[in-house]
Amino acid sequence: LDAESDETSEATKKKKKIAVMTSGGDAPGMNPAVRAVVRAGIYLGCDVFAVYEGYTGLVTGGDLLKKMSWGDVRGFLSYGGTNIGTARCMEFRKREGRLMGAYNMISNGIDALIVCGGDGSLTGADLFRAEWPSLLDELIETGRLTKSQVAPHRNLTIVGLVGSIDNDMAMTDATIGAYSALERISEMVDYIDATASSHSRAFVVEVMGRHCGWLGLMAGLSTGADFIFIPERPPKHGKWQEDLKHVCSKHRAKGRRKTTVIVAEGAIDDQLQPITSDEVKKVLVELGLDTRITTLGHVQRGGTAVAYDRLLSTLQGVEAVKAVLDLTPEDPSPMIGILENRIVRRPLVEAVALTKSVADAIESKDFDKAMSLRDTNFAEAYHSFNAISIDDDDETKLLPESERLNIGVVHVGASSSGLNAATRAAALYCLSKGHKLFGIVEGFSGLIETGEVRELKWLDVENWHNKGGSELGTNRSLPSADYGKVAYYLQKYNLQGLIIIGGFEGFSALHELYSETKRYPIFNIPKILIPSTVSNNVPGSEYSLGSDTCLNQLVKYCDAVKQSASSSRRRVFVVEVQGGHSGYVASYCGLITGAIATYTPEAKIDLSVLQSDIDLLLEVFANDRGEDRNGKMIIRNEQASTVYSTELIADLLKENSGKRFETRTAIPGHVQQGYTPSSMDRVVAIRFATKAIQFIESENKIIANDEYCSPSVVLGVQGTDIKLLNVAHLYSEDADVKLRKGKTVHWREMTYVSDMLSGKLMLLEGK
Ligand code: ATP
Repeated sequence: LDAESDETSEATKKKKKIAVMTSGGDAPGMNPAVRAVVRAGIYLGCDVFAVYEGYTGLVTGGDLLKKMSWGDVRGFLSYGGTNIGTARCMEFRKREGRLMGAYNMISNGIDALIVCGGDGSLTGADLFRAEWPSLLDELIETGRLTKSQVAPHRNLTIVGLVGSIDNDMAMTDATIGAYSALERISEMVDYIDATASSHSRAFVVEVMGRHCGWLGLMAGLSTGADFIFIPERPPKHGKWQEDLKHVCSKHRAKGRRKTTVIVAEGAIDDQLQPITSDEVKKVLVELGLDTRITTLGHVQRGGTAVAYDRLLSTLQGVEAVKAVLDLTPEDPSPMIGILENRIVRRPLVEAVALTKSVADAIESKDFDKAMSLRDTNFAEAYHSFNAISIDDDDETKLLPESERLNIGVVHVGASSSGLNAATRAAALYCLSKGHKLFGIVEGFSGLIETGEVRELKWLDVENWHNKGGSELGTNRSLPSADYGKVAYYLQKYNLQGLIIIGGFEGFSALHELYSETKRYPIFNIPKILIPSTVSNNVPGSEYSLGSDTCLNQLVKYCDAVKQSASSSRRRVFVVEVQGGHSGYVASYCGLITGAIATYTPEAKIDLSVLQSDIDLLLEVFANDRGEDRNGKMIIRNEQASTVYSTELIADLLKENSGKRFETRTAIPGHVQQGYTPSSMDRVVAIRFATKAIQFIESENKIIANDEYCSPSVVLGVQGTDIKLLNVAHLYSEDADVKLRKGKTVHWREMTYVSDMLSGKLMLLEGK
């Protein structure tokens, strides 16, 4: 795989030559993106060049434009920052700089450029493409290149990958690096929380985001902050001080021992006057709070990419190469984005223009427009933050008495990390509307045996945002253990809606209650399942709370395991991961840890599979010239085979290694259920909980007319949408009850990409 191809062969001359660069501010995930572009490019028959130091490398050429081999990007998944460097390049802003860029590209036979950077970098790339024909003409006219040299490269293909920790690009839900930065912020605020609570202090935490409040808003949600300041929703000039005091003193009066205020570095008031951390601190001090400022600064850019960013950048890198090969000269340059769970291509120019119009809207004080130009999640998240942190007992926001509901919440199944965060959000959202949320203690068996149900008050749940496990208690029991008792208690507490938070058992519980409505009319209330399980095996949903935390645990675990081989070298780890009969965790884990092979229940292990993986390992170690110090990984789902256990696979590989490598097993076990929920799980928990309450509210308005409609849905992410999916339909069409999972395998693509980037496909296809 590392062998250099023969430069002189005809085939090589015809090869598409692609350059990849990272530009602007660095972002975690840039390295995995470069790895994906290089390896997908090589697999798809291209030569891939790395442009070192951003546009400086293009302008300078020479050693800064380097043809990459397969092995050059080895280990890139685990590195933060960007190994090929980034820079702000003034020369490229001038035509002469871009002329040099065109010269250097054509001299190397390159006419496609994948740029991973922010809106500035993508603007530069678009300008470069627009000018390309005139740059080539000038190079010919000035005798620097000949017509025949230029002829094959008359069209420049540009593809944008958005690398930015601010998540400030329009037409995509997430940019590469944003969730890693959010994770760093959440971790830091968690640390600060401990000392804040101990001393009953207030902390003003300043986060990045000069023109975009995404980090500030999401940090506010994920850290359970009291108040946030973001540029898109500036508070009233001269009045915000009063509002801040009101909210913080209200929370203190309820018993909170700490105060957290998040300030985006670009925070302003509605007269565009900056709001600084010092000013915020002054107001909190006036309130009598012992207040400190923490400016997180570059810590937010630091460290290795979280699981989501590794996934996003890998899938987008592969998509960028495919786009290069698909595009015609007439096509507009695409930017690779993501909507919910789908990688999408969007017109780069439009996305950049839309992004810039947010800044213009803020500048002209049209804040509603600024808000509307951000994606819908942003506005929803802002609404949720207000509901759960600002308006939590604002009399004017309460629903009329007749519309206030009693809602139950129950945790079902194995523990996972989003259970408490979702329950907290549901409770706080309920309080903001005048509903009451009742927590069912110890699942359905608890209800049946003890009937213990607790009304969840503000102070009970306010610090559950970062608590893993289940404060209410969870187990696998189902209502069928005693429908009569379940019905009795639902009636006793006059519950008018039920939120089940859990995995496949939660799905089964929902279906049972739905199916028994005729016998127990009390079950005819709106019921909704919030998927929450490490395995992500709930029919109908491509996302479950807790699965992101699990993948982050695995990323850390696998990075450590791989590195542990650096002294002994030539070691292969067979890592056994959870997931029951669902290969989701294994497939995603394989992709984001760069595994050589992934074994899932969906693709059975047999001798021929093992033999080809042994061949691949022998090939990889034969080509290792000593520069690769890390171990290799094989990911095996716990139920992938009844015969080929983790130990047996490790032994078989070792036995057939010809002493060229040794093997070890590694089983992370319950570590995967997480400790502290990831910031993504915390934020999505709030989103799901808010939607669940809204569903129960709207269904209660129509249920009175239909005796047995028993609205029962699963909240599911499907492709680019969040849907409310009828449980009866899912049960008959998509549930594999025996294997406890959905029949739709939405992660198949992961294994394909993983095999492409590990080199397995090349070997199998004899390339
Ligand atoms: P970040 O979001 O981290 O600021 P960015 O990509 O927006 O990332 P910029 O500093 O704006 O960062 O741009 C990076 C580089 O892209 C610039 O140094 C310059 O070389 C090039 N560039 C930016 N804007 C243009 C432009 N209008 N014309 C030509 N080149 C540009």
